[in-house]
Amino acid sequence: MRTHVFLQKGTWLKCALHAHTTNSDGELAPPDLVRHYEEAGFDALVITDHWIRTVEPSTQGLLVIPGTELDALRRDGKTYAHVLALGIESDPEPPDATGSRAAGHAGGGGASGVGPPRRRKCRIR
Ligand SMILES: [Zn+2]
Repeated sequence: MRTHVFLQKGTWLKCALHAHTTNSDGELAPPDLVRHYEEAGFDALVITDHWIRTVEPSTQGLLVIPGTELDALRRDGKTYAHVLALGIESDPEPPDATGSRAAGHAGGGGASGVGPPRRRKCRIR
């Protein structure tokens, strides 16, 4: 019989997996965002600026992980979903040259936070 995950023993981490800085549409500059989450008692922070991989150093108490937030065209071909790429190692490819917001490729490594609606156009390596 399986024990519910919230009843299992282990170490719980306080994590923010989706946060923006002034490098996209956030309100705080990257160092200020890191300081904010560290002071709030978080253990890990993923900075997910839109189409930008913001890299900030971890601190004594906060693991800072680079990520990004991409747009992925839904199956209806008309609307977009946001896809988080966590722990990427290089910058994402920008949207295509036509100016559409079709998703490009996230930087190497990492994992997607949300299942991409169109896997052909949004590969996370
Ligand atoms: Zn976002």
